[in-house]
Amino acid sequence: MANFYTDNPHIQYHLQHPLMERIARLKERDYADADQYDYAPSDYADALDSYQRVLEIVGEVCGEVIAPNAAEVDLTGPTLHEGRVSYDPLTAQNLDTVRQTGLMGMSLPRRYGGLNMPITPYIMAADMVSRADAGFENLWGLQDCAETLYEFGSEDQRERFLPRVCAGETMSMDLTEPDAGSDLQAVMLKATYNEADQQWYLNGVKRFITNGDSDIHLVLARSEEGTKDARGLSMFIYDAKNGGVTVRRIENKMGIKGVPTCELVFKDAPAELCGERRLGLIRYVMSLMNGARLGIMAQAVGISEAAYREAKTYAADRHQYGHAIDKFPAVYEMLALIRAKTDATRAHLYETSRFVDMYKAYDDIARERKLTPEERKEQKYYSRLADAFTPIGKGMSTELANQNVYDCIQIYGGSGYMKDYTCERLYRDVRITNIYEGTT
Ligand SMILES: Cc1cc2nc3c(=O)[nH]c(=O)nc-3n(C[C@H](O)[C@H](O)[C@H](O)COP(=O)(O)OP(=O)(O)OC[C@H]3O[C@@H](n4cnc5c(N)ncnc54)[C@H](O)[C@@H]3O)c2cc1C
Repeated sequence: MANFYTDNPHIQYHLQHPLMERIARLKERDYADADQYDYAPSDYADALDSYQRVLEIVGEVCGEVIAPNAAEVDLTGPTLHEGRVSYDPLTAQNLDTVRQTGLMGMSLPRRYGGLNMPITPYIMAADMVSRADAGFENLWGLQDCAETLYEFGSEDQRERFLPRVCAGETMSMDLTEPDAGSDLQAVMLKATYNEADQQWYLNGVKRFITNGDSDIHLVLARSEEGTKDARGLSMFIYDAKNGGVTVRRIENKMGIKGVPTCELVFKDAPAELCGERRLGLIRYVMSLMNGARLGIMAQAVGISEAAYREAKTYAADRHQYGHAIDKFPAVYEMLALIRAKTDATRAHLYETSRFVDMYKAYDDIARERKLTPEERKEQKYYSRLADAFTPIGKGMSTELANQNVYDCIQIYGGSGYMKDYTCERLYRDVRITNIYEGTT
C-alpha cells in the first residue's frame, strides 16, 4: 500500500526537530486537555505519537486515493451549472475521504472539533497532499482560512463557523478583483451597512477565486465610502447558506485543473464583519496571506518531491547506449540537483513553520492570560523570524520547484512532452506557485 508519509524519511526527519517539544507543550498548554478529552496527549511522547499517527493516515489517503485520482481529475475537472460549481466526482471522493478521516480543521482547537495540531505537522500533510495532487491541495488547504477566522473573529463567530469547517465544509479567500491583483489596496467590492436590519451587504465582482463556490468565504471589501486605500478595507464572512453570490465562470486554466478558480458576482450578499473595520487588509489579510504562503511553499515542495521520484524512476528504467540513463553524469547531476533543491526548500519550509508555530502558540496563550516579559520577548523574536522567512521561502521554493519540474521533463526526453506521463501535469501545475499569493 502506498503511503506518502512512511515512504518519505525527509518529512519524518523534520518532525523530530528539538523545537517540536516546546511547540507541543505550548500548543497543549502543558497537556491540560488530557483531563478533558480522552484522545488529547498527556506528554510529549504521546503528542509526537499522535502527530505521527495522523500523518500516517494522511500519507495513506494521499497514496491510495488522491494520487491515483489525480490524472483523471486533471482531464475532467469541475463544471458550472446555473451559477453553481460541481466538483469532478473523483475530487468529491477525495473530499469525502479527508472528511471521513477527520483531516479538516487539523490545527483548530478541540473545543471546535479540531485536532489541535501545530502548524508544522499540518504543513507536512500539505506537503504530502501536494505531491499527490497539487490542485486538490488548494481545496483541502483552504482550511487555513479557519485559522484567520479563529484569530480575528468573535467567540460567537468561532462557535458558529469553526465546527462546520472541522465537519468538512470548505472555505475560500475572496481578495482579487479585475483591477486589484498584486495591489490589493485597490479592492472596490462594496460593503454597505443597512441600519434598518443592522446587516452588512456586499456588492461587486471578485475574480480568480480558488474554490469560489465554497461554503464559507472570507471577503475583503471596501466598507468606508469615499476611501481609495487600504484604510478603507474590512474583512467579512459570507455564509453561502444565505445566498447572494453566483459563480459567473470557472477559469479554463493551464494546470491545477481539479480545483475550480471562479469569477464571483456579489449581489446584495448578506455578510458579517470579522474583526474591526478598516483593519481588513492591513492586519487580517496580511496574516491570512502569510499562512497561505506557507501552504504554497508546501505545495512547491510536494511538487518537487513528485518530480524527483518521477525522474529517478524513469532514469533508472530508461536505457540508451547500453546503459540506464541515470549512469550518465549529465543526468545524475540533474537528479542530484532536484534532490538538493527539494531538500533545501523543505528544510526552509519546516524551519519557517516552526517559527510560525512558536509565535502563534504565544499569540493564543495571550488570548487567555497576560504573557510574562520573557514570553513576550520570545513571541516577538519568532514572529520577526516568521515574517522574514515566509516571503523568502515562498519565493525560493516556488522558483526552484519550477526548475525541478523543468529538469524532470528534460530527464524524460521526448516522453516528458507527452500527456502519458505525470511530469507533464506537474509542469503545468507548478507554474502557478510563483504567481499566486504574491508573484515572486
Ligand atoms: C489559479 C489562480 C488561483 C488564484 N486563487 C486566488 C484566491 O483564491 N483568492 C484570491 O484572492 N486571489 C487568487 N488568485 C489571484 C492571484 O493572487 C493574483 O493573480 C496574483 O496576486 C497576481 O495578480 P494579477 O494576476 O492581477 O497580476 P498583476 O498584479 O497585474 O501583475 C502582473 C505582473 O506585474 C508584476 N508587478 C505588479 N506589481 C509590481 C510591482 N510593484 N513591482 C514589480 N512588479 C510588479 C507582477 O509581479 C506580475 O509579473 C489566483 C490566481 C490564479 C491564477
